[in-house]
Amino acid sequence: MSILHTNTPLKPAYVDLHIHSTASDGSLSPVEIIEAARKVGLRAIAITDHDTIEGSVEALQHQRSSGVEILPGIEISVSFDSGTMHLLGYLVRLDDDLLRQSLKVVQKARADRNVQIVERLQDLGVDIKYDEILEVSGGGQIGRPHIAHVLIQKRVVQSFDEAFNKLLKKGRPAYVERYRLLPAEAIQTILRAGGVPVLAHPFTLNAKTEGDLDRVLADLKQAGLKGVEAYYPSHGPELTACYERLAYHHGLLVTGGTDFHGTAKPGVHIGIGRGNLRIPYRLVEELKRCAATQSSCPIP
Ligand code: AMP
Ligand code: ZN
Ligand code: FE
Ligand code: FE
Repeated sequence: MSILHTNTPLKPAYVDLHIHSTASDGSLSPVEIIEAARKVGLRAIAITDHDTIEGSVEALQHQRSSGVEILPGIEISVSFDSGTMHLLGYLVRLDDDLLRQSLKVVQKARADRNVQIVERLQDLGVDIKYDEILEVSGGGQIGRPHIAHVLIQKRVVQSFDEAFNKLLKKGRPAYVERYRLLPAEAIQTILRAGGVPVLAHPFTLNAKTEGDLDRVLADLKQAGLKGVEAYYPSHGPELTACYERLAYHHGLLVTGGTDFHGTAKPGVHIGIGRGNLRIPYRLVEELKRCAATQSSCPIP
């Protein structure tokens, strides 16, 4: 058949580069995520689980039959005093020894912290056991959303938001600190594994002004950062434009994703977030170019 007479419609190709699976605190397995992505017609996805590559490992084993391209991914929580900093790593080599070793250390710290959170809740008078958290986690990395899930089941709170706002977030009575990699350590770990480090959802840094964020980005760029997640469900048009501007200013690429967690983040849908996200495949090509050159990134 001639290329001019194919039945394949010429559709714009969209992607979702920020998705959580049951390997961390998402409610769908990697295979279920691929199926959901195929159904909505996404061309490529990245499963970016908290502090683990197991979601990506499993997804890549099922990529062939699905027609959805899978980019290896991870989301690492790093230390940052005045807010929450997460770093996404794209196209990392999943068998990289250093990456695996670093993740083992943070996974142990996370596991210890989870036990301590349950103890804090018990001290606060909540009838909760660690085994109940294990049960809802499905065997993956346990995170605070699993604890929130059990608190909702037990009617201690009504929603995930209430669980975080009353008990689990920084400054609340059941919040427990844990060891995290420094931002520069996570960036270097991703780079050494052949990946592209990207600052996730910059609004969670709680930067007061564009100038403050500009300074954080300058430091991160110095440490090897390659991109900024500009397209995200809770970034309105002004924030998105601000992040695009800052990325351009620092010679960083832009990425986007929904942070889909399934039932753990009600109202956020794969590919489209709260309905208005459309992330073009072009960004994946830029990530690939960046991974291939490593030392420098194309300016979008
Ligand atoms: P952890 O990885 O255990 O530190 O938990 C942090 C994760 O909890 C974040 O990455 C989000 O996925 C989730 N989270 C944070 N705040 C909220 C919230 N208010 N409602 C629901 N989920 C949240
Ligand atoms: Zn999460
Ligand atoms: Fe995050
Ligand atoms: Fe996330």
